[in-house]
Amino acid sequence: MLLTISTVSSAASRPATDLGFLLHKHPGRVQEFGQSFGTARVFYPEATERRCTAALLLDVDPVRLARSRGKSTPDFSLGQYVNDRPYAASSLLAVALADVFRTARTGRCAARPELAAAPMPLEIRLPALPCRGGAALARRLFEPLGWEVEAEAVPLDEGFPEWGDSRYVRLALRGEVRLADALNQLYVLLPVLDDAKHYWLAGDEVDKLVRAGAGWLAAHPEKGLITRRYLGRRRALERTAFARLAELGDDVEEALEPPVEEDLTPEPPPGDEPPGTSGGDPAVPDLAPEAATGTSAEAGAGEAEPARVPLNVLRRDAVVAAVEELGARTVIDLGCGSGQLLEALLARPRFTRVTGTDVSTHALAIAARKLKLDRMPDAKRARLELFQGALTYADPRFSGYDAAVLMEVVEHVDPPRLAALERVVFGTARPAHVVVTTPNSEYNVRYDFLGEGRGGGRAMRHPDHRFEWTRAEFAAWASGVAGRYGYRVVFRPVGDDDPEVGPPTQMAVFSVAGERSEGDG
Ligand code: SAH
Repeated sequence: MLLTISTVSSAASRPATDLGFLLHKHPGRVQEFGQSFGTARVFYPEATERRCTAALLLDVDPVRLARSRGKSTPDFSLGQYVNDRPYAASSLLAVALADVFRTARTGRCAARPELAAAPMPLEIRLPALPCRGGAALARRLFEPLGWEVEAEAVPLDEGFPEWGDSRYVRLALRGEVRLADALNQLYVLLPVLDDAKHYWLAGDEVDKLVRAGAGWLAAHPEKGLITRRYLGRRRALERTAFARLAELGDDVEEALEPPVEEDLTPEPPPGDEPPGTSGGDPAVPDLAPEAATGTSAEAGAGEAEPARVPLNVLRRDAVVAAVEELGARTVIDLGCGSGQLLEALLARPRFTRVTGTDVSTHALAIAARKLKLDRMPDAKRARLELFQGALTYADPRFSGYDAAVLMEVVEHVDPPRLAALERVVFGTARPAHVVVTTPNSEYNVRYDFLGEGRGGGRAMRHPDHRFEWTRAEFAAWASGVAGRYGYRVVFRPVGDDDPEVGPPTQMAVFSVAGERSEGDG
């Protein structure tokens, strides 16, 4: 099975052969990498200043594959020696790619750091990609990542067109993408398209997914399908992955909803099923202990999961407690997103007026759906208002509330626009109280799955974050705002307050100077 990665030169100072530096593989050599299931070779069919192509060719050795079969080695259920694995770009290719291009996947390149950090013109070709869902699914998965996708179904037999298409697709991807991102996307999406992971799923699959998905998965419109398939439809693992993404403040709850019917090609022949999904063979001899947990949790709806409260829930509860303590009865949630705070506020009758606003109509539509606006009892509906608005423009609709909340919003605003937001919220709308939460960047070292960011520093928690502040930076900003607009401010930790790096979320509670709150006693 074959994968090629090509680039063209955009400037004479940047020959296309720089691809060799980025991949950490010399264009002049053929290199071999032994795998437990065969041999991977990297070579360059073309390497000129103008255009350079690296090829990864994987020879799967069916005998070795069958012999090496152990608790975490490839499954071979179609037949021990006869199946498509040697020819089709499946999860085996993803595993080989991850191994051979391990350093390139991290985005580190001492020789060409600026090149590794930047998007570059890439063309990736996979002549035979097993694709459950057909060419349409390949497009749905790669297009949102900025790829131009050419996907063509391969006929079952060229000589007998009436037999129809096979489940293989000839795929070409073209785009301006960072090489490390491209490799990580392939690493996750090849097995997702194949939908037949070849090895037993263990707990670290969630880590691998979260790490390889950094910077693109959380915002992908198909993150639900990707996560579900990548984790072999083990509900317990899916929940862990979603909780991990949610913990970082990503809005992934939608993905937890029951899967929508996928548009799929016919089922693969029996025997070509990934282990554990066919349900046909309960007495699998080499079931790993981790896999056993996954399987029983799948049947038992995940009771085995540790009861850890995700950070977004802790944060929502901390904000509700804060506005309650302030004695607020009317609250506006600025940048309400999918409305999780609105729901909690509406559940408490003491809040007589609850308003959510967001610049994103998509977010408002999700909020309306989640709040079941169309079925809401009249009395509750009368307390709720939703409207679209931008926080960097003064808007009379923002005024007249006891408290305003900016929960995980300021870090989404470009720094030069922050002063405008401050003016609109603290100067014009001017509620008696403002509650602001934002990530504490110091805590990011506790998320070992967060990995490295684009500039070589630590990654941020969400691709849309414009910045993440340390406790000192947040305190400096909040004190500055309070001073300029006549508020006083107190700070509170949200989540586990680590003695070294502080809490994962930081919260500032502003009150108009001279204003008393119930909490003041
Ligand atoms: N408060 C929600 C959502 C946080 S995500 C929660 O904690 O779950 C940040 C939200 O801020 C997004 O929904 C985004 O659309 C919104 N947002 C970002 N910039 C904004 C702006 N200038 N005006 C209004 N909303 C904005």
